[in-house]
Amino acid sequence: MAYEQELTIALTAVKKATTLCSRVQQTLITAETVIKKDKSPVTVADLGSQAVICLELQKHFGSDPIVAEEDIDTLQDNKELSGRVHELVTEQTSGISHKRMLEAIACGKQHTDFTQRYWTIDPIDGTKGFLRKQQYAIALSLIDHGQVVLGILGCPNYAFDPKQPSGQGSLFYAVKDLGAFARALDEDSRQTITADSISEGCHAKFCESVESAHASHEEHAQIADALNISTPPFRIDSQAKYAAVARGDASIYLRLPRSSSYREKIWDHAAGVAIVEQAGGRVSDFSGKPLDFTCGETLEKNIGIVATNGKIHEQVLNAIRTQIQPSRT
Ligand code: AMP
Ligand code: MG
Repeated sequence: MAYEQELTIALTAVKKATTLCSRVQQTLITAETVIKKDKSPVTVADLGSQAVICLELQKHFGSDPIVAEEDIDTLQDNKELSGRVHELVTEQTSGISHKRMLEAIACGKQHTDFTQRYWTIDPIDGTKGFLRKQQYAIALSLIDHGQVVLGILGCPNYAFDPKQPSGQGSLFYAVKDLGAFARALDEDSRQTITADSISEGCHAKFCESVESAHASHEEHAQIADALNISTPPFRIDSQAKYAAVARGDASIYLRLPRSSSYREKIWDHAAGVAIVEQAGGRVSDFSGKPLDFTCGETLEKNIGIVATNGKIHEQVLNAIRTQIQPSRT
């Protein structure tokens, strides 16, 4: 199987990061939250999660570039925060020095040729959901010559068994040509997941961000109306939205940024794209183009995200064409 070793290592890495993040979320206190330059909240868990994943990848795939969200600036001049991150990291990966941990975090911001093979990490996607003690995801993916060939989403608060909402969280993953899978976080047996087969808007459910600053809920509502979608939107933080489409909890994920100049980050989408595509779904931008992961840290050539079960994709694109000003996409 292609990418077998990559999958094994990546699953171990995400599992460790997921344990670290769950522990922090359970005991979250405001003192552990600092404000990044861009004003978004970042916690010791973001940095710890990035360290743990980078350490694992560097151990096995030392020559692969890693592109990760967090930079080391947040820890500089903050010994207390840095010490706390180190404590969390050593719980997952013993014997790692403080210096080595800092190097591992920093490796996510090195020069990368995005047209070649690289990993991308969002150590906590949906930090705002994390701080609200709601949904978030640990996202890791491998891009090989522009193609997302492996994607993993650790979703500690996304119930593996929908009938037991407070039961175990989920680990979703996909590998090119192998399919998409889900497993309960603390179990090894996997289940194949597939997107649903709904082809009429009136039966579809769509999902979108909880945060209205991250996507235009009003324009999504216009598109939903044009598709005759009657169910209210399923609002959920993070790439758990891609997992929802991949396992048939929703048929559509819409994300139109409020500002036409906003460009999505690669780590906010790569893992989700692999999982939806391998589950039989489709992902494009608002004009129908596939997402281009070769441009750098952002999806420079794409505006808006549409992920669907595949069957309803063209209908959604048609609805977008009739409802959304071309200048917005
Ligand atoms: P979500 O939980 O789906 O709302 O997405 C969380 C992600 O939204 C974060 O990881 C950010 O990278 C991203 N984000 C931050 N600001 C914006 C924005 N103005 N428009 C779209 N996405 C954003
Ligand atoms: Mg993110």
